[in-house]
Amino acid sequence: MNSQHPETRMVHGGMDGLTEAGVHVPSIDLSTTNPVNDILTGGDSYESLASGHPLADGDSAVYQRLWQPGVARFETALAGLEGAEEAVAFATGMAALTAALLAAVDAGTPHIVAVRPLYGGSDHLLESGLLGTSVTWAAEDEVADAVRPDTGMVIIETPANPSLDLVDISAVVAAAGTVPVLVDNTFCTPVLQRPLAHGAALVLHSATKYLGGHGDAMGGIIATNSQWAARLRRVRAITGALLHPMGAYLLHRGLRTLSVRMRTAQDTAAELARRLRSRPEVAAVHYPGLSGSDTRSLVGRQMDGGGAMIAIELAGGFAAATTFVEHCELIVHAVSLGGVDTLIQHPASLTHRPVAATAKPGDSLVRLSVGLEHVDDLAGDLFAALDAIGAAA
Ligand code: PLP
Repeated sequence: MNSQHPETRMVHGGMDGLTEAGVHVPSIDLSTTNPVNDILTGGDSYESLASGHPLADGDSAVYQRLWQPGVARFETALAGLEGAEEAVAFATGMAALTAALLAAVDAGTPHIVAVRPLYGGSDHLLESGLLGTSVTWAAEDEVADAVRPDTGMVIIETPANPSLDLVDISAVVAAAGTVPVLVDNTFCTPVLQRPLAHGAALVLHSATKYLGGHGDAMGGIIATNSQWAARLRRVRAITGALLHPMGAYLLHRGLRTLSVRMRTAQDTAAELARRLRSRPEVAAVHYPGLSGSDTRSLVGRQMDGGGAMIAIELAGGFAAATTFVEHCELIVHAVSLGGVDTLIQHPASLTHRPVAATAKPGDSLVRLSVGLEHVDDLAGDLFAALDAIGAAA
């Protein structure tokens, strides 16, 4: 299977055994419980699954929180795309991050080093210390100094939400030494970036975004080695943030078109970024693929293109940002990203609202998740909204 090209694996990953079952797509199994053969073997299966082992031949799945076949199919497919031994899926991206942090706490290493910016919810979770972690926020070149004997994980996001800053994964892995590095790969997906190949230990996705791709299913997933996968499954079994089988079905289905969606949206985003840069109302366009924006050549070395997210700073500050987002008509004013339709939002007010004032994105910044509409229709909508800034001034 692994000798096949990624596009082929995207279509066929996690689809084993369908012909034998007499179906063309996976059936959605909603059963919350699974009959056991007898008390002894049922108990053994329970023990094994609740300790984080995968379902073995002869095991009963016992209970949906311990093992779910549709979830396992989605996990197999994503693991194959990230080049991971295994993957573990959760109810949301935040549930996935929660499980990783709880695993670090459980291992007696509750100190986390993290590079800002991160998604506002991830920043909020770390800053709150709610799970018993403590955090040291470090710039990329401060990671080595920030690591301590009780550091359980280094967390980065590249490109980062919402600024589109890039982090050099290999450099952070080197700086972290023996401490595992978790990379949030939500913005790139394995189509554009495979962090494990650069030495990361864990790759996290808000599957709610590009993996599902249609804005109709929430989920989170971590691709990693078998040892970490067992720890994460154990946390999932104990705490219960399982992905629902219907969500798993939709996310797995989304994976099958991921490559074409990502590449088309990326082409459109690159063109929009170029066009937006020419407008006087725009003070800066942050897009990894733009000439002059990637001094370390991470696009090409680490990322296969600039992705489909753009951050735009308006010359007229918050007032201009407000006028801009409120005058988009085709483009929907909403949080989230990675779907087939283009969304715009103001991170300081919405996705990054809980972030400390010193680390919050600027008031003039808006974030665009570019979808699959025609580039001229999107440019028309954005340019009309930019025209409205002049009219409102
Ligand atoms: N990571 C990134 C980069 C995100 O953008 C988000 C959500 O927007 C998350 C994690 C959290 O994922 P979820 O909303 O699925 O919990």
